[in-house]
Amino acid sequence: MMCATVKEGEDCVFMASTGCTYNGGSCQPVVESCEGCTRIREYGNGRYCTASPDPAVKWKNGNCNIATHIKVETAGKKQKVNPIKASKRK
Ligand code: SF4
Repeated sequence: MMCATVKEGEDCVFMASTGCTYNGGSCQPVVESCEGCTRIREYGNGRYCTASPDPAVKWKNGNCNIATHIKVETAGKKQKVNPIKASKRK
């Protein structure tokens, strides 16, 4: 159903005929850690995340898993090599 609170006109799963059913009755604004993320969008009443109704929750247990401004460091990690598959490659 179309949002009629903070993201007016956008289709939202939390919207019902009785109003917004999300915790607190509306989306929550972005938090400081979100700065730089491309999912932030300016609405008439503030800045909100286009992917999450409550950005603070996304940062509660570490980095937001859908943030666009954070790079996950994988360099330095050794990849496990299956010796059987490795021998077949030769
Ligand atoms: S995707 Fe994560 S980091 Fe980006 S605005 Fe939303 S909650 Fe914030």
